[in-house]
Amino acid sequence: MTVLVTGGAGYIGSHVVRLLRQRGDDVVVVDDLSSGVADNIGDTPLVQLDLSRPEAIDALVTLIGEYEVESVIHIAAKKQVGESAQRPAWYYTENVGGMANLLQAMESAEVNKLMFSSSAATYGNPDVPPGSRMSEDVPSAPISPYGETKLVCEWMMRDAAAAWGLRGVGLRYFNVAGAGWPELGDPTKFNLIPIAIGALAEGKQPVIFGNDYPTADGTCIRDYIHVLDLADAHLAALDYLDREDRDYDVFNVGTGTGSSVSEVLTKIGRTTGYDVQPVIGDRRAGDPADLVADVSRIRDALGWTATRDLAAMVDSAWQAWEPTHGAPAVPPS
Ligand code: UDP
Repeated sequence: MTVLVTGGAGYIGSHVVRLLRQRGDDVVVVDDLSSGVADNIGDTPLVQLDLSRPEAIDALVTLIGEYEVESVIHIAAKKQVGESAQRPAWYYTENVGGMANLLQAMESAEVNKLMFSSSAATYGNPDVPPGSRMSEDVPSAPISPYGETKLVCEWMMRDAAAAWGLRGVGLRYFNVAGAGWPELGDPTKFNLIPIAIGALAEGKQPVIFGNDYPTADGTCIRDYIHVLDLADAHLAALDYLDREDRDYDVFNVGTGTGSSVSEVLTKIGRTTGYDVQPVIGDRRAGDPADLVADVSRIRDALGWTATRDLAAMVDSAWQAWEPTHGAPAVPPS
């Protein structure tokens, strides 16, 4: 059986592809290479395709036949919150349009197993007591076009499940970090850990976006999940789709443990050897104080739990820094 992985050449996708192949699954990757890198997937077959283009449906139907695809892991998407606020229509075209084309192709090629990468951004800024864990039952109320597109894609999957028997599962990623292999590090600097390491590597200090939140140290708390744990959850979700007793569902993917921005930066200082003296900046608009996953549903349904902690994420992100970003301009002291 072949698994089609869309976005398989990207940071998260390439970890999923590597784990699938390690366990012996056949894989074909579809990626438009707008942010993915062909080298990330070695000799895995790669079809370069933008899923949101009208011709994508026919191309997908053809490749599903050619590679005997039986299930799909759909990761390809635009994923920058700020950019989505500036170019909302483009985000809908790419993310929702891509999902629509994929679902049409799957229906017409009679492939009915789909794992979709969703996001904790579907929760928005939830009105829950501080310190509580986000369960999947908390109403979705995204506050960015990015989060909205992820929620709409979940609905599309749910509707396809009702209409033609799609077996779908959505994974709501929390804060993904780290690297499973040094050459597969996060190439971007859009999230706290790579932003902070990137700043230090240029001789600057990281900035904390507000230290007056109602948390123990005043900085925001997030649930950081190792990319290799996340990739492992994809394999568990794929296996879940084979079961007769599964329903359409969405699952949080996190550790269930929160870390504050200050704690993350302290860990980065210890791991890298840089002298970290963060600058306290203003709050960033739209940041919830505390967003930590309730992970009981994925544990109960899929038997999956995260096994790696924040130290492993920071350590592996640092090990991957030079292979992914080049040598730091300022070496640690
Ligand atoms: N953050 C920060 N400084 C930075 C980048 C991020 O203080 O340079 C904080 C941000 O306000 C949030 C947390 O780090 O509380 C995680 O932010 P990130 O953008 O990585 O992920 P998000 O939770 O927003 O998806």
